Amino acid sequence: MGVKIYNSLSRQLEEFLPQTEGHVSMYSCGPTVYDYIHIGNARTALVTDIIRRYLVYRGYNVKLVQNLTDIDDKIIARAETLGLSSSQLANTNGQAYFEDTQRLGIQPADVHPKATEHIPEMIDLIQTLIAKGAAYVIDGSVYYRINSFKEYGKLSRRKPEDLLAGARVEVDQRKEDPRDFDMWKAAKPGEPSWDSPWGPGRPGWHIECSSMAMKHLGETIDIHAGGEDLLFPHHENEIAQSEFATGKLFARYWVHVAFLKIDGTRMGKSEQNFIFLRDALDKYSAEIIRHFLISAHYRHPLDYSLESLQNSESALKRLNNCVDTLNKYYEATPEIEEKGNETSESTSHADADLFSSIESLQSQFTEAMDNDFNTAQAVGSIFSLVSHVNKSLNSSNGVSQYTLANAYKVLTETCQVLGIYTMNEQDTDNTTEYLDPLIELLLDIRQDARNQKDWDTSDKIRDRLKELNIEIQDTREGTSWKFVT
Ligand code: AMP
Ligand code: ZN
Repeated sequence: MGVKIYNSLSRQLEEFLPQTEGHVSMYSCGPTVYDYIHIGNARTALVTDIIRRYLVYRGYNVKLVQNLTDIDDKIIARAETLGLSSSQLANTNGQAYFEDTQRLGIQPADVHPKATEHIPEMIDLIQTLIAKGAAYVIDGSVYYRINSFKEYGKLSRRKPEDLLAGARVEVDQRKEDPRDFDMWKAAKPGEPSWDSPWGPGRPGWHIECSSMAMKHLGETIDIHAGGEDLLFPHHENEIAQSEFATGKLFARYWVHVAFLKIDGTRMGKSEQNFIFLRDALDKYSAEIIRHFLISAHYRHPLDYSLESLQNSESALKRLNNCVDTLNKYYEATPEIEEKGNETSESTSHADADLFSSIESLQSQFTEAMDNDFNTAQAVGSIFSLVSHVNKSLNSSNGVSQYTLANAYKVLTETCQVLGIYTMNEQDTDNTTEYLDPLIELLLDIRQDARNQKDWDTSDKIRDRLKELNIEIQDTREGTSWKFVT
């Protein structure tokens, strides 16, 4: 069985079949860079990142394109308030977007096209649509004629009367039909503009994504992603423009990410209830925020709360302790990379038990992620193995070093797909490399104390280490230590 994706177009879970075997073209609607991004925006960006990472894990070659909308009404308005030019504001926030997403461990897309760098392509596409009768010009603006595209509404499944009701809120009397939308906006005094066959002006938001997606990925793309608010009218209009121009299907799979909410309301700029991603990252690590954001399946709304972040924090502590403890077994078992996940020669009951948990993680993780990228279940399967490993480490029926090394390998591989464990990040401040020798030093001092029958000192060292979740065991071969949770 392969990957299955819930396609918003068919409203069904479908087997994922890209156009070219082994290759995936993916477009994700990026931010409008008028401000920093909030953690709601980050949810959508993170889902795109994880879909891409998982498809790569499954052996696909993925090309991801994510645009930056760097010209738009909101940018113009905010730039004016701040006394900046639109391009200054967009550049600063575009840069901030890359900084913030990088801090969250989001891998950059293969291409991050900017709308303002694709004006000629947008003009070409509009000209094609005018030539085909799907657009008309009024006073230097160009409108898409919705009536020309018989399938209009196929993504949102809105009836024409609903569309009319929505469009009447702001009726431009010059339009042939209130539902028609602008692809080119005639310049207003003081606004940034570009030359065009219809006079100076700027592109509409929908034409930006149609042009940039088709320029960088071709006329038909495999996956098109965005937040659920973009389904209508943005994506419906992208389909209308692209499909009327090319006569081909624009996107094979449409993925829509449900909202991050706060107190039951969508987190958003206009709602004034947002938390900037950079502020959250000042308090919590990227892994904690990622763990929280993927704790629900992407098609389910997720509620932000301090408590959820704290839960993610303690879950990750457990994960990190476990993986860090396993690391020393992995380092001591170089043959693990060649042998892969072959079962260990030592077949104690505890060993065989843990080995079957490792295999379960591999199959459950793939099953969950194949099933429309169900990160909530995938994370659950990772933590089942963590519990089992901790039990094994704490029990006296020792499991072999080889099996523990295997557990490390599988845990790190799966965590890496989700980006929730990064190899000893503390290494950057050189603290972890001192941990082993420091504990060894304490154990030496304790041994000296025991030799002199100084039981107080010996017990004190043991008890104080226990408070730090480090347990020591005295055996005939000497004293060993491990992390416990
Ligand atoms: P914007 O900058 O408003 O165009 O949004 C950038 C991306 O973030 C779009 O794909 C939006 O759909 C998405 N988005 C905005 N608010 C939220 C939210 N509260 N939860 C999830 N995604 C969101
Ligand atoms: Zn878009």
